[in-house]
Amino acid sequence: MIKIADKNKLFYPFDKRPKDGELLKVSQSIYWLRMPLPIALNHINLWLIEGDHGFTIIDSGMSTDEAKNIWRNIFNGFISPKKIEKILITHMHLDHSGLAGWLSSELDIDPHFTQKEYNETQKIIGGMSDEQINSTLDYYRKCGYDKKSEDQFRERIGLRKSLSSNQVEEIILIKDGDALNLSDGEWRVIIVEGHSPEHACLYNEENNVFICGDALLPRITPNVSVNPISPDSNPLESWIESLEKIKSVIPNDALILPSHGYPYVGAHHRIDSIIENHFRKLESVLETITEPKNVTDLFPLLFKSEINEHTRVLAVGETMSHLNFLVSKGEINKTIDKNGLYSFSKN
Ligand SMILES: [Zn+2]
Repeated sequence: MIKIADKNKLFYPFDKRPKDGELLKVSQSIYWLRMPLPIALNHINLWLIEGDHGFTIIDSGMSTDEAKNIWRNIFNGFISPKKIEKILITHMHLDHSGLAGWLSSELDIDPHFTQKEYNETQKIIGGMSDEQINSTLDYYRKCGYDKKSEDQFRERIGLRKSLSSNQVEEIILIKDGDALNLSDGEWRVIIVEGHSPEHACLYNEENNVFICGDALLPRITPNVSVNPISPDSNPLESWIESLEKIKSVIPNDALILPSHGYPYVGAHHRIDSIIENHFRKLESVLETITEPKNVTDLFPLLFKSEINEHTRVLAVGETMSHLNFLVSKGEINKTIDKNGLYSFSKN
């Protein structure tokens, strides 16, 4: 058992990380593969779990030539493709799922997926219909998109598709509470909502290891966005409830293997600080709405850096998730103002 000297601090058991495309052993049966990404968040951690008969791969990386070459190197050197038993994709975001279809057909393995995350990946690969694009843009206009932002949004649809490989034909469905026999033993599926619709985390009780995907990142808080197809939803509440659920299941001394950043110990402290951070933001949003505000009026309050075409979707989603939370609690009202924009005012 790892002791934490100060219960309010995270403890990082590894002082070095693998180089891009290389593996580092983090426990008797788990390898850490650092996969480079062609975006501002420049890497994702993938996990390879070894058992007596083979390996399970957790998450895939984005569909780039670089990532495919890294996988080919691994299959040519470290593990023969024949030794890979299972693939599990935690959630739909392209750094996690982009190569799921490619890996699945290269290895002839149906990946484990939750239903909602699988459905979302299929939507990305299939592209959006004109009707879906129009209703999505209708939402973003109410959130303050101008013509230029709309054009940039249309370009992003194509970009998302290009970072995803071929369709996953069949999956092995996983659900909350499932006990999965991955290569080295039993892993319990814990579903987290809010960051994406049905994000799978995995807990191995025997070894006290938690593969958290994007749920409990050590230094950054994952984006919690309102989905344009359900503009009145309250994902922030689902997210906070999910974090509390993790806290009730995972002990504070579990080794957390996150998708970005270094493995650490101190899950409860991290959960408390993520939740506190959201409540601080909610308070400051509420204090600012002394007169009606549009979505973009709140950007300077919520984000340190200038919002640009790359961060706009995330900024709108995150701002709306805090606003919808306050609307659901009856603290503020949401209406459409004379310019056709969402307007929020105190009740
Ligand atoms: Zn994610």
